[in-house]
Amino acid sequence: MRARPALPLLALPLLILAGAPARADFAGCVAGLRSHALGQGISAATFDRMMAGVEPDMKIVELMNSQPEFKTPIWDYLATLVDEQKVAEGRAMLRKHAEVLARIESAYGVDRHAVVAVWGVESDFGQIGGRWSLPQALSTAACFGTRRREFFRGELISTMKIVQRGDIAPEKLRGSWAGAFGHTQFIPSTYLRLAVDFDGDGRRDLVDSIPDALASTANYLKKSGWITGARWGYEVRLPAGYAGPSGRTAKQPLESWAGRGITRVDGTALAGLPAAGLLLPAGRNGPAFLVTRNFDAAYAYNAAESYALAISVLSDRLRGGSGIRTPWPTDDRGLSRAERKELQERLIRRGYDVGKPDGAIGALTRAAIKDVEARLGMPQTGRPGGKVFDALR
Ligand code: CA
Repeated sequence: MRARPALPLLALPLLILAGAPARADFAGCVAGLRSHALGQGISAATFDRMMAGVEPDMKIVELMNSQPEFKTPIWDYLATLVDEQKVAEGRAMLRKHAEVLARIESAYGVDRHAVVAVWGVESDFGQIGGRWSLPQALSTAACFGTRRREFFRGELISTMKIVQRGDIAPEKLRGSWAGAFGHTQFIPSTYLRLAVDFDGDGRRDLVDSIPDALASTANYLKKSGWITGARWGYEVRLPAGYAGPSGRTAKQPLESWAGRGITRVDGTALAGLPAAGLLLPAGRNGPAFLVTRNFDAAYAYNAAESYALAISVLSDRLRGGSGIRTPWPTDDRGLSRAERKELQERLIRRGYDVGKPDGAIGALTRAAIKDVEARLGMPQTGRPGGKVFDALR
């Protein structure tokens, strides 16, 4: 979910003009990293072993600088992250790992459905592996990044500490360009702060131990202010013409919201939540939610309200709930991953080159959608929405 579209092709020559790094620059930078690491308690043997043969990958700098070309509407974002496939797989994981999840719940006081929701959104329950070795990704970012070089240097040193302690073997440490790794996508410094050994083998292993990974996520949510036994919030209904306050952080007791005419989405009276903020992710004409500190704990995991809403709604679905009832303010719904894949297959059958039909929407798929939209006399958005999907069907 953190993958972002690559830079437009035009930017690549610019990057080269701006001075692509010489190998000597990298060697010099690594020498500097080495002396810094040794000063931080990393042994020369650990450093040299982990950096042996590492070459910078400038794709990482591109990703670091890329701005999303399209603003993803929240209904698209939720449609892919909380689809029937994710719900079914999540429920299967709840059954399969019921015993360890029960122990995690009693040790950390964090709802198992939220823990499994984070697992599903972060790595599709461990199915999405890392593209880069952490030493390669983090040394590239520390040497050639256009910003936050010191941050990435710190993450590189944290990576080496993980290996030096014998927690995880270096070849297992693969992750995103920014260094997030394992089942629940911790960055190395977060790992050092919050990862726990829950299977009792003495190592904190977020790559190969599901108990360690899930307990570490529960620990993260707990340390982020999770209130045991409370809900993240729920969907509500605003009175007609509501003009009162809103915002996740503007928390008020339920009586205050009730006094403004807000009810639960089914029309019943508000009850059963601690202080909550009124979240309106698509404005006053879309779904509305009262959200508690447990919603903020999910927000702490990845600072986006859309992310926290995906975790929260998925956790409800995993518990057997029905999801969001109020329609989003659009007549062009978002597509699930299965529908995106089918959309690509239909485009291929019509002769478009969209690469592999994997449900990931890249530049080729967007261009093909635009072409189809033009042929159908629709506005050319390039967006994989329900209208173009239904038209192709
Ligand atoms: Ca362990």
